[in-house]
Amino acid sequence: MTRALYAPQSPVYSHQVPVVVHTCRHLIFHYGELVLKGRNRHRFEARLIDNIRAKFHHMAIRGIRKLTGRILVEFDSDQSVQTLSDAASRIFGVANATPVHVVGPSFDELAAAVPSLLDGHDFASFAVRCVRAEKRFPLTSQEICQRIGAQVVQLCGARVDLTAPALTVWIEVLSHMILIGVERIASPAGLPVGTSGRVVALLSAGIDSPVAVWRMMQRGCEPVLLHFHSAPFTNLASQEKVMALAQALARWHAPLQLAMIPFAAFQQEIIARTPESYRVLLYRRCMARVATQIAHTVRAEGIVTGDSLGQVASQTLSNLAAVETAVVMPLLRPLVGMDKNEIVQWARRLGTYEISIEPHQDCCNFLEPQHPATRSRASDLVRAEGALDLPALVERTVAGAVWHAVR
Ligand code: ATP
Ligand code: MG
Repeated sequence: MTRALYAPQSPVYSHQVPVVVHTCRHLIFHYGELVLKGRNRHRFEARLIDNIRAKFHHMAIRGIRKLTGRILVEFDSDQSVQTLSDAASRIFGVANATPVHVVGPSFDELAAAVPSLLDGHDFASFAVRCVRAEKRFPLTSQEICQRIGAQVVQLCGARVDLTAPALTVWIEVLSHMILIGVERIASPAGLPVGTSGRVVALLSAGIDSPVAVWRMMQRGCEPVLLHFHSAPFTNLASQEKVMALAQALARWHAPLQLAMIPFAAFQQEIIARTPESYRVLLYRRCMARVATQIAHTVRAEGIVTGDSLGQVASQTLSNLAAVETAVVMPLLRPLVGMDKNEIVQWARRLGTYEISIEPHQDCCNFLEPQHPATRSRASDLVRAEGALDLPALVERTVAGAVWHAVR
């Protein structure tokens, strides 16, 4: 049975509830993009092992072993396959995982494991798939598939279907052991979180930015989340939503650091001293400055936003460029070329959409101008900023941040 817990093609990210509670003590992880890594692959593997350990922190792990192109996790006791699947489907850097039984490297031991493996599974058709990392094994993959296939037919009466089987028996022949399982859990692939360094991510309560954060996590970035709010002029709903969004993202990698940053005083200065049409862009430039300052403290190397080209007035090419000149750090916009529908589909899959669409008051709507500038020049914004004491405002804003570790 292939468990599509994380299914890039499906519109809804969903969990299947098995009828029978199956248990397993071992989980094998197969790499995604990591297989392409050359000499520094061990660095990626070490980080992946740390992340796997953290993901299963609530379960007693007996050992984690690096095998050829895979990682094998052994738990102290049998675990429910459902619990393993939930966690294993949310680890970046692996393509898929399979709960397995581990037997000695002989065909007899493999065959002996089949009845208990199939116990409780009800299926009309099946396929056996085998890979041999150990080429000295006396049987070829094809021979193993045929023999185990014949055994399954005899045991269960199911028919072989190599195209769309109801159940697949996965076998991996390694040098000192053979692994056998019937579940394949799809994972989000990409790179292990942390291998691409740290970024600060501007998280609003909207639809886009949680998706942007997730995509950067998939590329191996560890995000430090920053949310700007306009309390007491806006209500608490946006902060509560952002906390809920951070919790949804933390299901993929935890803990996540989240700073709630009071921005109203800064905004009031902007409103009092600068032209109205530049307001939103000046908010953005100032957010970017505050983010840069925090990035230096937390040793982050980039700033992530959920901007998508042309989505709103502040995201025209010239306005994106005008915001960028306020900071020297790379501004990463993983959604820049995606249209809103695509972003919404991702948000649904990730489970953030339902949270994002709850009504809230965003700090950028706070005294939003009637006619925002769509083609601004950085030089005009710099001139407007001349009326502000930026270093003092940035410093005061950073100092007001309230930090949370989100799980
Ligand atoms: P989203 O883009 O997440 O749907 P939104 O539509 O409210 O939210 P935009 O106006 O599109 O936000 O803002 C573009 C980007 O600026 C956001 O994706 C986010 O990265 C950043 N941003 C906007 N408002 C905030 C905020 N209050 N706190 C932190 N970042 C913000
Ligand atoms: Mg947006």
